[in-house]
Amino acid sequence: MKNINFPLVVIGAQWGDEGKGKAVDILAKQADYTVRFNGGNNAGHSVVVNGEKFKLSLLPSGILWKKQLMLSQHVVINPAVLLKEIDFFIKRGLYPKLTIDSRAHVVMPYHQELDAATEIWKGKKATGSLHLGIGYCYEDKNNRFGIRMEDLIDKKQLKEKLTEFFPIKKRQIELVYGQKTKSTVETIYKEFVIYGQRLKQYVGDVSTITAEKINTKKFLFEGAHGTFLDAVFGTYPYTTAVNTISGAVFAYVGFPPQAINTLGIVKAYTTRVGNGPFPTELFNQTGDKIRSVGGEFGTVSKRPRRCGWLDIPLIKTAHRLSGFNKLAITKLDVLSGIDKIKVCTHYKLEGKLLKTLPPQIKDFYRCQPVYKIFQGWKTDISKCRKIFQLPKAAKKYLSFIEKSIGVPIQYVFVGPGRDETIEI
Ligand code: GDP
Repeated sequence: MKNINFPLVVIGAQWGDEGKGKAVDILAKQADYTVRFNGGNNAGHSVVVNGEKFKLSLLPSGILWKKQLMLSQHVVINPAVLLKEIDFFIKRGLYPKLTIDSRAHVVMPYHQELDAATEIWKGKKATGSLHLGIGYCYEDKNNRFGIRMEDLIDKKQLKEKLTEFFPIKKRQIELVYGQKTKSTVETIYKEFVIYGQRLKQYVGDVSTITAEKINTKKFLFEGAHGTFLDAVFGTYPYTTAVNTISGAVFAYVGFPPQAINTLGIVKAYTTRVGNGPFPTELFNQTGDKIRSVGGEFGTVSKRPRRCGWLDIPLIKTAHRLSGFNKLAITKLDVLSGIDKIKVCTHYKLEGKLLKTLPPQIKDFYRCQPVYKIFQGWKTDISKCRKIFQLPKAAKKYLSFIEKSIGVPIQYVFVGPGRDETIEI
């Protein structure tokens, strides 16, 4: 890798699963700190090192380079999941140098129960949540019913907060949604007090560390989820509870706004998990082929992802929201062997051509994709390490993306491995 400009924020430009995990992993080599700034264990990353696949859902990918890792205040922590990941790496001799912000909120068993109960209630209109309780944890954060890391590590405070909050949650689960809760204050306390005592050593002040060191150390900020799962600018309500765009990093970590570099991660085609609008979705064999070649099944959920053609208006909108300095185009190898590749250049809505997403979701549902057709390439490109080694058709595809978005491409990924990368 050439020299990378820090501070650097890595943002998925589509609906997630763009390959941010690999991007953060290769960039973290040069960073001092890798900071996760939003989401919970509903956003899985996979990174492949020497052929071995690591699945991460909370720890930042910088773990593999033994870097300083931080989970900021707006990451919600499922302590059992985090401890499992920590133990996995400790067993391999990798002791995480981890700081968890004391203000970060803890995902509780009743958040998961509420999550499942609401999805049952919504029926066909369910958002496709994995019942991990992430959204409910954020809801309690906003309601001021939350349990923070500082409470988890303090036995007395944990007991007090649980005793205050749990009866309300129980009533909600049982009387509003008609479901039964398995937990009691005692069972939760017994389990969570142990987590707190184990995680105590990692709890600190991510905001102060970042604010003090941002100009002298190299910070890499890792956003979970993709742009269009953003709570506001995403395809609401099929969205997550957090902002996923680059500007969120300042408030979510707690340091002053300043110039940052933003790398937009763009998969060479489009995928999404769960429900919601998806104009370029494929319902044919090409879609099935992309899904099987690209391994498009959820890291955490194992659910098959919906697959479709690359959507330029979507990425242009992501660029408008996050201001990409550079792009990484991932999974280009997955398109090898497809005869004709389509790219959506515009949307058509009531006879008008749109270059970006309409502001109202009800209009987005009605957008028809307008395609440009590109000649595909047959050769396996996974061994290419320089841009000139790529087939002419692949280069044409990349240069069209670059021109359409107006942002230079810095990396092209041609396989999941660290080395399967072309740097421009
Ligand atoms: P993330 O959440 O954005 O990190 O994405 P995921 O980890 O859910 O999905 C990316 C998947 O694609 C992982 O299994 C990666 O190992 C894999 N991957 C990343 N880049 C490439 C690539 O260029 N080609 C192929 N074939 N796989 C890739």
